[in-house]
Amino acid sequence: MVTLRHSERSEGPLRLRSFTAFRTTVGILVALALALPQARADDYAAEMANVVAAPPVREAMRLIDTLDQQTIDWMIELTELPAPPFKEADRAKFFSYLLEETGFDNEIDQAGNVLARIPGDGNGRTLAIVAHLDTVFPEGTDVKVRHHDSEYCAPGISDNGRGLVAMLALARVIKEASIGLRNDILLVASVGEEGIGDLRGVRYLFRDGGPRIDEFIAIDGAGSSRVTVRSVGSIRYKLHIKGPGGHSFGAFGTANPAHALARAIYYFDQDAAEFVVTPGEKATYNVGRIGGGTSVNSIPFENWAEVDMRSADPQRLARLDEILKASVDRAIVEQNARRTEGAPLVSEPERIGFRPAGMTPMDTALVQRVTLAMKANGIDPDFRDGSTDANIPMSQGVPAVTVGGGGQSSGAHSLRECWVDDNSRVALKNIVLMTIASAGLVSAP
Ligand SMILES: [Zn+2]
Repeated sequence: MVTLRHSERSEGPLRLRSFTAFRTTVGILVALALALPQARADDYAAEMANVVAAPPVREAMRLIDTLDQQTIDWMIELTELPAPPFKEADRAKFFSYLLEETGFDNEIDQAGNVLARIPGDGNGRTLAIVAHLDTVFPEGTDVKVRHHDSEYCAPGISDNGRGLVAMLALARVIKEASIGLRNDILLVASVGEEGIGDLRGVRYLFRDGGPRIDEFIAIDGAGSSRVTVRSVGSIRYKLHIKGPGGHSFGAFGTANPAHALARAIYYFDQDAAEFVVTPGEKATYNVGRIGGGTSVNSIPFENWAEVDMRSADPQRLARLDEILKASVDRAIVEQNARRTEGAPLVSEPERIGFRPAGMTPMDTALVQRVTLAMKANGIDPDFRDGSTDANIPMSQGVPAVTVGGGGQSSGAHSLRECWVDDNSRVALKNIVLMTIASAGLVSAP
């Protein structure tokens, strides 16, 4: 999980990706009020009032109040079972066991995700609730939980021990309070959310022919008010231009990759600069490093450049990508036209990073219900940008948010990671209400 603002007690190093385009909570709430016709806002408010007043939901809330110690015990057990990148299998098996113990048959898919389904009334619609299994910590990291008063410390305890536990608590109270839902709920403990995992678990979930998912709520780390509604996407390349190379005097006329690269960067900067000031979401581009070549009196065999492009709007990100490719193609053609001997230049764009961009508009039913669920528990939502499992559905136009699993964390992604039980149950109550409202409560006969 990477988020871009922190009212929770979180530390700085994670926020290195200094995206600046996030909006303030107030700004978003104003936009929300403007975006939604009053009649629809009233409908959602009435629906939430019904959910909150329903006897089974009240029973679920009462059960949450009894689960503090259980959730902490689960958190410790899960955290002490290491789940390094690409090595989540042991924790996946244990999570599968915990789900079974809670009364849910489940399976582990080919990517390694643990999946369980809470059937609805058969209408076919599905709400996915997702928490990632993996941590950023390598094999051999000491994950023993140390605890003092209400503070529990170990790498990964909050991110994402807390998210996994919040999902278990949700599943348990839906079952014990016999809550009937219209839509199916697909519980997913995902693999590969962090860094080099490149969101592979949720990418697999959203493959062609994967399970139908209409809405998506990820639970990631601590906090009770955070709602991630936008993901700033990024595409990064190491762009290689290659040719036969040769002596600067003796082989003059051989196509020169350095010249072509300079030309490509010139065209890219020209066209991208014009594009990014057109109306729309912030979009940025940067050639961060260039290199290659052999010596001052050699025509290079190869030159390269590293390029980073970002936007929260997938269309604008895709357009920057097109501009880059067109600039390179044009430069190669022009440079090859100057060639009087030797083989032509070729370009090889090597993609070195990709996180899809996306956003869930404030007027979607999901964001409205998440907002009302928090308000019902006295919490003001804090809308943010971030990079989480929700990037994938957002990029495909599936309404998605990421919320916290409760409590407060510090030192995420560091060996000093700690979690404090500071009224953590309120986040569980938020999650129960947003899930029931989104999946649709079947009223008692
Ligand atoms: Zn996380």
